[in-house]
Amino acid sequence: MEQVNIKINGMPFSVPAGSTILEAARYAGIEIPTLCYLKEINEIGACRICVVEVKGARSLVAACVYPVNEGMEVITNSKRVMESRRHTLELILSTHHRKCLSCVRSGKCELQKLCKDMGVEDETYYKGANNEYEIDDSAVHMYRDNNKCVLCRRCVAACNKWQDVGVINTLERGQSTHIGCAFEEDLGNVACVSCGQCIVVCPTGALAEKDQTQEVWDALADPTKHVVVQTAPSIRVTLGEAFDMPVGTEVTGKMVAALRRLGFDAVFDTDLGADLTIMEEANEFVERVKNGGALPMITSCSPGWINYCEHYYPEMIPHLSTCKSPQQMTGAIIKTWYAKKKGIDPKDIVVVSIMPCTAKKSEVGRPNQSAAGVPDVDIALTTRELARMIERAGLNFAILPDEEFDDPMAESTGASVIFGATGGVMEAALRTAAEWVTGTELKEVEFTDVRGTEGVKTATYDLNGLKVNVAVASGLTNAKKVLEAVKSGEADYQFIEIMACPGGCVNGGGQPIQPASVRNFVDLKGKRAAALYQADADKPVRKSHENPSIKKLYDEFLEKPGSHIAHETLHTSYTAKSRY
Ligand code: SF4
Ligand code: SF4
Ligand code: SF4
Repeated sequence: MEQVNIKINGMPFSVPAGSTILEAARYAGIEIPTLCYLKEINEIGACRICVVEVKGARSLVAACVYPVNEGMEVITNSKRVMESRRHTLELILSTHHRKCLSCVRSGKCELQKLCKDMGVEDETYYKGANNEYEIDDSAVHMYRDNNKCVLCRRCVAACNKWQDVGVINTLERGQSTHIGCAFEEDLGNVACVSCGQCIVVCPTGALAEKDQTQEVWDALADPTKHVVVQTAPSIRVTLGEAFDMPVGTEVTGKMVAALRRLGFDAVFDTDLGADLTIMEEANEFVERVKNGGALPMITSCSPGWINYCEHYYPEMIPHLSTCKSPQQMTGAIIKTWYAKKKGIDPKDIVVVSIMPCTAKKSEVGRPNQSAAGVPDVDIALTTRELARMIERAGLNFAILPDEEFDDPMAESTGASVIFGATGGVMEAALRTAAEWVTGTELKEVEFTDVRGTEGVKTATYDLNGLKVNVAVASGLTNAKKVLEAVKSGEADYQFIEIMACPGGCVNGGGQPIQPASVRNFVDLKGKRAAALYQADADKPVRKSHENPSIKKLYDEFLEKPGSHIAHETLHTSYTAKSRY
């Protein structure tokens, strides 16, 4: 890699040519503070927090966008630089509702940390008339409090560039500038897909999921309710981050122990629902291939993707698998099979799910998701909400022992664990579909072509003479590329996996908050996914159809994949919706 020689704070460094000053400083072990900068999608140099001095330049420059060149001399910590950053922060604070004591983001807030690092007081220096904004809590999954917004525009970039949704933008100008939907419409009235990517990139408490933890505390305190919890595949490799563990730490056993100590009557693994999804989805795929159903078939596990399809690509609805998501399948099985086994009226069961995803909050209210005549799932919490419950209960997460999930839904496979990473559902389905189509045992279960964090992956597999072209897309902008290729006839896929969030559920909108200083320089998606693939490799059973709990479930209740009872319990339908 070509290098250039520069000086930072008087010290000589050789750094990659083409770097920005921000990146070059990082190579040199110096972290320049940022606020609006988000690598690749929001490199706008607008907030002026990252300003530095460059010898020869008249004004301070924004380190996040200013490239280095040979011989450049940079000063990152002069009095002028520090004062400029402090004044900028004081101006931001002058319009900010400073409610750190009760703010959901306190302790993880980038603005709070900057003020602390720069020695900026809570009492603002700049005073004057301010805009007061009403909190927009119209959406089912999140709220917006513009009184805590710093106008960094990261949310706008995530919604437009990663997700191709673009329902939020900057409105008005000057002192009145704020973020919102066109014509000041409420978020709940536009075609937002509930993905939550805007929340995870927001540096402050301006955006947050709708907190439903009190509903769970209330259910747990109700002696008439049997409260069970299920945990999604990806949670086990992200929850630890909320307790300052390294990215990619697997905490399955501690998570189960924590949930039991919170008082849940049973702790189940959504991985069983993922294995069940594969049974039904692989069967559906084979049936469509044999009987001429709509191809390509597209996965349906990601509710953000389902929302996007219904709003923006309704013509593709016939291509969606009719399978409910693993969350909903697990809930359906709890309220039917498990309820019967335990002799409990499904009305008295409260199913709580811990999900990486804010769109799951919208999914629980979807029609045609009530196998037992009551909603399959009652409350969907994000990973962050679970972390808050653990903190509130005073559990010392780091020293909890490792415990096992409860029977009869304790066993899961490596196939189900990898659902949390982009390409995981495709790989899991191929492990089962390949054996069903060829009638022979797979010697190599790893379909590595569909692994990795690229936005679009394609591969072709030969299943005993049946050529299957597959595509995997994560992030809705990437999904759009694949869908347009299918619609134009440019691509001939038979099976497509789509996840709404870039990188899949490991990078879901409900996952622990990581500041931009981590997001911009650490491969979050890759590290979290690697932990899932390791968990898969460690599992004794790695194919969904070999899961003993799944075999028992079909023997006792569901009969066989695609049966009438399986359809009634585990499948659903979709509805075209307006994109405006
Ligand atoms: S957004 Fe940050 S600075 Fe503002 S109240 Fe919340 S924690 Fe405090
Ligand atoms: S939840 Fe997703 S679609 Fe909705 S505003 Fe945020 S980024 Fe956009
Ligand atoms: S809501 Fe958050 S991400 Fe969006 S502009 Fe405001 S502070 Fe930035």
